[in-house]
Amino acid sequence: MSHEDFPTENPAVVTCGLPYANGDLHVGHLRTYVGGDVFARSLRKLGQETAFVSGSDMHGTPVAVNAAKEGVTPEEFALDWHEKYEATFPKFNVEFDNYGHTHDETNTELTQDIVRTLDENGHVYEDEVMVGYDPEADQWLPDRYVEGKCPYCGAHARGDECDEGCQRHLEPGEIEDPVSTLTGNTAEYRERTHKFFRVSEFQEYLQEFIDRLEGTSNARNQPREWIEGELQDWCITRDMDWGIDYPDDDVSEESDGSLSPSDTDDLVLYVWVDAPIEYISSTKQYTERVGAETYDWEQTWKESGEIVHIIGRDIIQHHTVFWPAMLKGADYNEPRAVMASGFVTLGGKGFSTSRNRAVWADEYLDEGFHPDLLRYYIATNGGFQQDVDFSWEKFRDRVNSELVGTVGNYLYRSLLFAYRNYEGTPEAPLSDEVRERIEEAQSEFGEAVNDYNVREAGTAAVRLAKFGNEFIQRNEPWKLTDEDPEEAAQVIRDCVQIAKAIAVLFEPIAPEKCQRLWRGLNEDGHVRDVGIDAALDDPAASFDEPTELFEKIEDERVEELNEKLEARTAEATADSEDGADSEDGEETETDDSAESSDGDVTAELEPLTEERIGFDDFQALDLRVGEILAAEGIEGADKLAKLTVDIGFEERQIVAGIKQLHDLDALVGERIVIVANLEKAELFGVESNGMLLAAGDQADILTTHGDAEPGTKIQ
Ligand SMILES: [Zn+2]
Repeated sequence: MSHEDFPTENPAVVTCGLPYANGDLHVGHLRTYVGGDVFARSLRKLGQETAFVSGSDMHGTPVAVNAAKEGVTPEEFALDWHEKYEATFPKFNVEFDNYGHTHDETNTELTQDIVRTLDENGHVYEDEVMVGYDPEADQWLPDRYVEGKCPYCGAHARGDECDEGCQRHLEPGEIEDPVSTLTGNTAEYRERTHKFFRVSEFQEYLQEFIDRLEGTSNARNQPREWIEGELQDWCITRDMDWGIDYPDDDVSEESDGSLSPSDTDDLVLYVWVDAPIEYISSTKQYTERVGAETYDWEQTWKESGEIVHIIGRDIIQHHTVFWPAMLKGADYNEPRAVMASGFVTLGGKGFSTSRNRAVWADEYLDEGFHPDLLRYYIATNGGFQQDVDFSWEKFRDRVNSELVGTVGNYLYRSLLFAYRNYEGTPEAPLSDEVRERIEEAQSEFGEAVNDYNVREAGTAAVRLAKFGNEFIQRNEPWKLTDEDPEEAAQVIRDCVQIAKAIAVLFEPIAPEKCQRLWRGLNEDGHVRDVGIDAALDDPAASFDEPTELFEKIEDERVEELNEKLEARTAEATADSEDGADSEDGEETETDDSAESSDGDVTAELEPLTEERIGFDDFQALDLRVGEILAAEGIEGADKLAKLTVDIGFEERQIVAGIKQLHDLDALVGERIVIVANLEKAELFGVESNGMLLAAGDQADILTTHGDAEPGTKIQ
């Protein structure tokens, strides 16, 4: 069963993974929220009715632990962060239709209602389980209160997930060599009665579901291993005070009598039960505010809605295994798509909140940078599932070359010329050439949205601006005003249309900047509310003198910002007694990469070759840009993959040793560098006609910085 293309007749909901109400937001955290906002706006541009929702995740052990450290209640602690997030997102033009939190009444009621339904439908049972206990603290040790060894991969694991190893969800009692994080003592395992959700019953359903699921390939491929293996049932209660109470009013009657109601009184639901339900609760709150005639949450979640989840790649399992099983078991709709983003690194290393090695969300704005610049950077710097590196240098480079150099430059020169010569749009029909180019940009945009490709949707307008610059250069309207006024009017009419199309198509990425452009073009209303068809509507006859839309970032600013960051990191490292302390999973993962790249790199590098070669020797290598059209593993070979590469003149089959090092599906569409005139070879019975260039043991594939076409010679 394949899904109908967007826009469909059904209402859609785009959700963003809930931020954990546990600390300041840095630019890395913004990745999924900006991505989600761009995607929701893009769907609306296509005419898809869309709600965009999220909320703060208030429960779970890290909140309880950190609240205790600060001597406040978990509720006070989490609410404080929730309010900060609620204020921060709009500053980055991330405009949720509803932003709730998991501890509010809507979510508490809906969670208990869904768990009751799961129970009534026979999907919940009671069982004995071993739970960590700290005798000295006289306390149960759910989730993050216990650390130890992952039973699957042996990595150090914290509580309910193997976040430094195999990324698996861990059930209570599974961690080996358990240690209490309260006292550092060895934890005891003691038997307790808990509630379990029969995920195992949904195995067949999930196997079919994953074939239907759309979104990024990592979210479709990664869960197969879990779904095809033996699915474990899922303990859905915890021995804690902080959380949503297990709805046990009528449960004890259905149980086999082994448990009295008072035993479940002190159980709360596992945080991963009530967290995703907030997606539904938040949509429900939106309907309660705007009315069901405007947006009907029940239609979306229970009848025929397009549910798109946007998450970080560390929580794929929850969204592709547990969550769809819960929805199915409680008679709700299943997700249509899951888009799982890569992480953001800082100057090639992980963000570290404990070491203050981060660019904070508030700090970015305080430095005077426009939110739309960061939106552009993090939404289009790489494919959605790739990791994106942030550095002030790279940020400057992309702002200066693409936003200032391509988009801003096009808009300013074309609109200034139109204003000076015609005080607006000259009277002339739109040329076929420009109409077709704008139609091409519209379809690129539509196809990218249907491919869940945020980067491509976001850069359709940039490619159009690039065309605009070439179009002006080629037609030289400044020469024509005297020689051929009619032709000059035609060219400038075309140029204004391109500017209008950029405002429409670039709005999802740069909503505030595009609204300014829209007003500058003397258009009414908000560019957010117009569909992509508006790109071809006639521009206003008159408009005011344009102003520059984007400002160049100077090198001195970058130096200054780098110095600040370094000074602060040094200070924090010196102050910190336990610099390795960290608060969330994402951070731990990125911290690790920081440590591994801290070492002396040159010691591991292959020495430079002393012998020099002549330019002719270099010229003998025919290096070309290629675009990967298809990538698949070669059966029987551990490392080899077969690539189909478009090199402009022809398609080539190339064999490369990258099978285990890359997500092959994600490589499709990448521009790479190949040696085109290498002798043909046969590997595992497969012909290789050329060689792909890649760096190091991890086969870091060389890609192009700009958009050189396939076949372009590299020199
Ligand atoms: Zn593991």
